[in-house]
Amino acid sequence: MKNLKRRLRIIKYTCLPLVGILLIGLVVIFAKPLWRHFVTYPKYQKQVEAFALRKKECPDVTGLKIYRGVLHLHSYWSHDSKGTIYDLVSAAKLRNINFMFLTDHPHGDRDTFPRGYRGIYDGVLVEPGSEKQGFDAWPLKDSTIVDWKVDKDTVARNLVKNGGMVFYAHTEEPHNWSNEWFQGMEIYNFHSNVLEKTSTLPILTDFLINGYKYRAWAYRGIFDRQTKILARWDSLNTHRKIVGFSAVDEHENVNFRARYLKDGRVQWMGVNTKPMGVMKVSFWNRWMFHEPDQSGWIFRWMLVNTYETSFNNSVNYVFADSLTVPNISHHLILGHHFTAFKFLADATGFCYFGEGKDGKMLGMMGDSIRLADIGKLKAISPFPGRFTLIRDGKTVEVTAGDGFQYAFEKSLTKGAYRLEVEVKPGDEWQPWIYTNPIYLY
Ligand SMILES: [Zn+2]
Repeated sequence: MKNLKRRLRIIKYTCLPLVGILLIGLVVIFAKPLWRHFVTYPKYQKQVEAFALRKKECPDVTGLKIYRGVLHLHSYWSHDSKGTIYDLVSAAKLRNINFMFLTDHPHGDRDTFPRGYRGIYDGVLVEPGSEKQGFDAWPLKDSTIVDWKVDKDTVARNLVKNGGMVFYAHTEEPHNWSNEWFQGMEIYNFHSNVLEKTSTLPILTDFLINGYKYRAWAYRGIFDRQTKILARWDSLNTHRKIVGFSAVDEHENVNFRARYLKDGRVQWMGVNTKPMGVMKVSFWNRWMFHEPDQSGWIFRWMLVNTYETSFNNSVNYVFADSLTVPNISHHLILGHHFTAFKFLADATGFCYFGEGKDGKMLGMMGDSIRLADIGKLKAISPFPGRFTLIRDGKTVEVTAGDGFQYAFEKSLTKGAYRLEVEVKPGDEWQPWIYTNPIYLY
């Protein structure tokens, strides 16, 4: 009896405080994501839905069509992705994406093209490319071999000389910025944005609580304006043309999945597509699995990143004549595009352009216009926004307010002029659009 009492006392004084500390810890860790789940994110969601109703039709000023596309993403061809064409195309259809320029990691030093997925799948244009050594490279041609053992500058030159497209990937990292063969650079990369966070715990807890219902907002919670990268872009554009685009860098690989092996057992796969073990199907675990889906999975717990969320996040809106690889890549290299965070508002209809003194359209984002000819820099937007004009990295003018239009005509001098547009679906202005510059010379 005495012994039992002593034991209970030990439990009381050691275990209970530990349980208490654990509970307090859990409350501290999950209080914010839970608050977001029940209060903040439903509010944001309603605000964005109400904001969508304010959409205005925009006049066509370019004579070109608009195609929405994602660049820098991975499929099964990469060692760290299992994405199939079903996963990619169903996500693209759901999010109104017209083209995907893949950048799968090569299998060796000799990288042959075409490889992986290529063509038009259910109306979605897919073109293979490569991500290696800080490159986003698309040869855009049949029977190409890229030799990654050759020095980087030569790889870039050879690719571009043969009609390919070469952009800087992961621009938070060091590069040889003076290599003029690089035609463009990432001005936003979701993955780079995550990497700059000092702690991943708040991100993980947010996705654990909000990953299903409010994944778009959990994504947005990670967003930071990429100030250093934008400054680099502006500084490069003062002496050379380099187009800016957004990279989704999507692998759809921070999740847990399972599939059948040939012998009927189940193989588990974790983060970064790492195999996690094999188990037999039994009475005890059968309930967890469904019939294999189109990609063969019998269990999917998509914890953080999915194609469909990325395809509604940073999207490139390209002005082009037709949905073909030569035409889309041609306009990408010219800079006839802008990036928009699509889940805030679909930016189709937006345009930024230069008008002559006689009111004639002289060129659009990515184009060069003679200073002697320019009358106004203008933008039209399907949604009201706040427009910030930036010349060679310095803010020239901010028009605050509720405008669907923007015009700048005062004191235009030589330089690269780009526009950032924010929208205000709720209480705060949110970065929404980054355009390529118009070069006045
Ligand atoms: Zn990547």
